[in-house]
Amino acid sequence: MIPFLYALVTSAATLTGGVLPMYTRLRLVEQRYLVGFAGGAMVAIALFDLIPQMGTHNAFALLIGFFSIYLLEKSVMIHACGEAECESETHSIGWTAMIGIAAESLIDGVAIAVGYRAAPALGLLVALAVFAHEVPRGLTTTVIMQEAGYSRGRVWAALAVDAGFAPLGVLFAGLVPASSFDWLIGFTAGVFLYIGASDLLPDAHRRFNLRVVLSTLSGGGLVTLLGILLGK
Ligand SMILES: [Zn+2]
Repeated sequence: MIPFLYALVTSAATLTGGVLPMYTRLRLVEQRYLVGFAGGAMVAIALFDLIPQMGTHNAFALLIGFFSIYLLEKSVMIHACGEAECESETHSIGWTAMIGIAAESLIDGVAIAVGYRAAPALGLLVALAVFAHEVPRGLTTTVIMQEAGYSRGRVWAALAVDAGFAPLGVLFAGLVPASSFDWLIGFTAGVFLYIGASDLLPDAHRRFNLRVVLSTLSGGGLVTLLGILLGK
């Protein structure tokens, strides 16, 4: 129940990020700080919280998580990028992109549920990291789709998929037998490591900016500090 509520809060983050550029003039809001913060937080969760929780025999799951999200991202996904600096030709928005968006959100939901099952405090930390990256991700989805000339209705449909699949991921994780959870923790760690280090951080650092570096370090530092305080 609680992981489901966490996922609903992250859905609200996606919608908030997506609605802002549609109805306000916040299109070019300084989102690279948030992208850097989310990147730092996701790497710290993978290294500090998730990997120590998984058994060493799950190194294979870690590998699968990392490379499957890499393949998904390189083929179909829209990713969060700072200040609309994405090269637009790499983002074709169609059914394949929607599959990528849905899969990423589904994994977010699974990660929240898996983290919560391992330790309630870990579930909260994962939810915070998802929340932090979903605001820029929703915002990016809207900006890219509007620039590609999609109607408001289509943008809303994409945001609904993006927001709706996180709670579905929590429900899906409930169907997975407890014996597979150790494997899922490894998989999630691989996904978080990839998205944090290889997707969010390079996007936040297209141009050198010390404040982005500080945002990234505070994302990683806050997660580590909270992990210690909450005794994950
Ligand atoms: Zn996400």
